[in-house]
Amino acid sequence: MSHDPITDSILDLIRSQDPEAAEIIAAEQDRQHSTIELIASENHVSPAVQHAMGSCLTNKYAEGYPGARYYGGCEFHDQIERLAQDRAKELFGCQYANVQPHSGAQANMAAFMSIMNPGDTFASLVLKDGGHLSHGMKINFSGRFYTPVHYPLHYEKSHPEFEQIDYDAVRDVCLEHKPKAILCGYSAYPRVIDFARFRAIADEIGAYLLADIAHIAGLCATDVHPNPFPHAHVVTTTTHKTLRGPRGGLVMTNDEELSKKINRSLFPGVQGGPLMHVVGAKAVAFGEALKPEFRTYCEQVVTNARALASALTERGYRITSGGTDNHLMLVDLTARDENLTGADAEAWLEASGIITNKNGIPDDPRPPRVTSGLRLGSPATTTRGMGEAEMVKIADWIDRVLDDGGDEATCSIVRGEVAALCAEFPMPSVAMAG
Ligand SMILES: *Cc1c(COP(=O)(O)O)cnc(C)c1O
Repeated sequence: MSHDPITDSILDLIRSQDPEAAEIIAAEQDRQHSTIELIASENHVSPAVQHAMGSCLTNKYAEGYPGARYYGGCEFHDQIERLAQDRAKELFGCQYANVQPHSGAQANMAAFMSIMNPGDTFASLVLKDGGHLSHGMKINFSGRFYTPVHYPLHYEKSHPEFEQIDYDAVRDVCLEHKPKAILCGYSAYPRVIDFARFRAIADEIGAYLLADIAHIAGLCATDVHPNPFPHAHVVTTTTHKTLRGPRGGLVMTNDEELSKKINRSLFPGVQGGPLMHVVGAKAVAFGEALKPEFRTYCEQVVTNARALASALTERGYRITSGGTDNHLMLVDLTARDENLTGADAEAWLEASGIITNKNGIPDDPRPPRVTSGLRLGSPATTTRGMGEAEMVKIADWIDRVLDDGGDEATCSIVRGEVAALCAEFPMPSVAMAG
């Protein structure tokens, strides 16, 4: 149950008008509070970020940009959007920021439209190796309206950089296909990205470098991972992953001409009216990320990911590429037991209160609905105040559940132990009452 007076009173208010919806929201809050969130792209926002999203800013149309709107009454919307822009620029050390994208995919769509024409070629990492849907999947706009070519990882086991980006091959692919843009930044890649090396390749062929830091934005903003600026021409990100803000997107650049193209591409090119309650919550989240505590948080995120990765390695699992430099890892389950699949592991762990997602590993022989791997991340547990000791407990639970083949009794015992740990480390909106 929740102990946050603000969240409680908001739920009570909704309940008084719509008990049916309120019960569902309350049940979801209890689910989040009583389970361990290991999905690498998720996090728990602060009460301030959460409640900024619930503010009156949602009532207003603010099509356009600060100082140039299509509707009257935008005085305070201009102020809140400028505040979000200024804080984003300070966080990433750049000159132009568009804070209006509804999501990371829409940030990418606006970035694509500003640096490419339909049909143009771009280079990226394919989804099955750690890339994203919006990096050229055939079923996505990026693969339907543009022409992706993909660069590889090192796939030879004997290579010292096994399962890491093969930069020489990136260069070869780019020299051969002369893409208009090179994309770096991924959804399931545990290693440092060498933005300078990507930029050198881009310069050789006169291409744009687009860095999509959706996953690692918080780490980049605090120098826990190298910053894509000044190397990338355009940087896109989500705001809800390691950056710990509301669900949304962000596009940044240092180039004035490009910034104008990006603004026009996003509105009116891709979107209509911005979600100003989300823009307001972005301002609050960026303010939090500028504080020294957020750097400490990001450092702990990486420390915890490494602790979880080594605890799992000690228990016989293989972490792809041999470890992690950031907030996530890919676990090759077949090293522990060749019959284990990502799909079974995800289901058994969910029954035990541990939320993960199945994920293909590089060169995975199994199809995407099954997979041989799990993607695990530390952002949400670290927000709850968990540390290395808790990561070892989590590794133990994971191994117990998987070793027992998802045995119902084991899952139910572990679920109880997980809930007890979660009560000690409440999620932020529940912890507030203290
Ligand atoms: C999550 C992610 C996105 C998309 O974000 P949405 O907000 O879900 O649209 C884009 N790129 C990468 C690399 C991601 O991991």
